[in-house]
Amino acid sequence: MKNPILKENIERFESMRHPLSLQAGIKEANRCLLCYDAPCSKACPAGTDPGKFIRQIKFLNFKGAARTIRNNNVLGSVCALICPVEKLCEEQCSALALEDPINIGGLQRFATEYGKHNNLEKNQPGKRTKAKVAIIGAGPAGLSCAAELAKRDYQITVFEKEQKAGGMPAITIPEFRLNQDALNYDIQNVMDLGVEIQFGASISCKEHIEKLKNDGFEAIFIASGLTKALKLPLLNNYQNALSYIQFLSEVKNGQLNIDVENKTVAVIGGGSVAVDSANTAKALGAKKVYLISLESLSELPADDEEVRLAQIMNIVFKSSTQITGIENANNEIIALAGQEVEWETPGNYSPSNAVLVNHTQFKIPVDIVVTAIGTAVADELPKVFEGLQTGAKNCVVANNQFQTNIPGVYAGGDVVNGGATAVEAVSHGKEAADEIDRFCSISGK
Ligand SMILES: Cc1cc2nc3c(=O)[nH]c(=O)nc-3n(C[C@H](O)[C@H](O)[C@H](O)COP(=O)(O)OP(=O)(O)OC[C@H]3O[C@@H](n4cnc5c(N)ncnc54)[C@H](O)[C@@H]3O)c2cc1C
Ligand code: SF4
Repeated sequence: MKNPILKENIERFESMRHPLSLQAGIKEANRCLLCYDAPCSKACPAGTDPGKFIRQIKFLNFKGAARTIRNNNVLGSVCALICPVEKLCEEQCSALALEDPINIGGLQRFATEYGKHNNLEKNQPGKRTKAKVAIIGAGPAGLSCAAELAKRDYQITVFEKEQKAGGMPAITIPEFRLNQDALNYDIQNVMDLGVEIQFGASISCKEHIEKLKNDGFEAIFIASGLTKALKLPLLNNYQNALSYIQFLSEVKNGQLNIDVENKTVAVIGGGSVAVDSANTAKALGAKKVYLISLESLSELPADDEEVRLAQIMNIVFKSSTQITGIENANNEIIALAGQEVEWETPGNYSPSNAVLVNHTQFKIPVDIVVTAIGTAVADELPKVFEGLQTGAKNCVVANNQFQTNIPGVYAGGDVVNGGATAVEAVSHGKEAADEIDRFCSISGK
């Protein structure tokens, strides 16, 4: 059982759910069927091992559960809050055949909170006696690779262009879904392992790579994610049209220059980031928020829970529609013109497959437009690494061992898979660490 979503907390940018109490945690763990070869554990990309930590909670070993999570997944607190569990561990839960699945995310949060508030021993720093490894980006992939290698005594430096660690979850995910405490706890656990993080350190030209080589770094892990928000040319150069990255990051930093209160906001996009933007606008006091998507409501790529959240927040879904034009005045968009669409080939949700339906034109007056139609890798990355092989959306091409075409240069997370989940990025970081360890050991570093 999950605790209900609290609308008033969202409006105050506080955690949208109360954590499970001690009694509720034990009761939920007691529902576990203690499967042999637990399918939930197999379904967790990062190997967090819910089968084990739920058993530990069931037998009242709460600290043991917290330790299992932290040892297996350096972003265990973050993942407990943001993992799309319905598609991962909970989807495979055997209890699902009988009733609701076990609330694995809730139990993971229960255990990490228990560890935090009951003096779980700190991580011990690695000895830093092995080779120097540079990691570009302090997001889930970078932090997880850093932690695994630090545990094995490598000298790890993470170069992060922002002034904070945590990647996209720290930069954009609204506080009501992911609180700063959870992020801080996980990041501190990584730093306790002896990982050095340099903030405001953008690796953005060939000279930076030369310097890393001259400074004795033996391997590099690229974990720089997706930082370039895709644009709709129609909306270019209007001051009241923002990308979701700009909108969400400015809200998180308290630097939003545009007043949302009592305004009409249109968010263009149907994925998780679009829903986060719409809910954030509503929480900031927008009068009306539209979510405009090519997909119908049942086809939205956003996770089910996020769609439920948007419904609770009274977001107006303008589904199966395409924006075809704008009206403007004084360099601002004042209305969006659109038309309904249907798919030429059913089941193919790409924009090029959407066809306009005759006589369905509409117009929406708007004050602010937020675009959330996708993200790509920053343009400069292939120039930073001369000869680096890249593919669609500028993503880095890496093999199953996370190795790029340049010896000693590895890559993982969103920068490779084009955007997925935090837990997948954590798994890439862990697996890449194994390969970097192998590479350095073979070359005697
Ligand atoms: C709004 C939003 C909501 C999301 N919601 C969820 C969710 O609910 N659940 C979920 O699992 N996932 C969610 N995701 C996706 C998840 O955040 C990503 O899949 C995950 O963060 C990818 O991790 P990463 O380490 O590969 O990259 P990122 O998290 O993008 O981290 C990359 C880091 O590299 C830094 N960097 C970039 N370029 C450079 C450079 N040149 N030099 C130095 N540093 C650099 C960046 O500043 C950043 O800190 C969401 C994403 C967004 C944007
Ligand atoms: S990390 Fe995420 S996917 Fe893995 S067990 Fe925990 S909640 Fe489930």
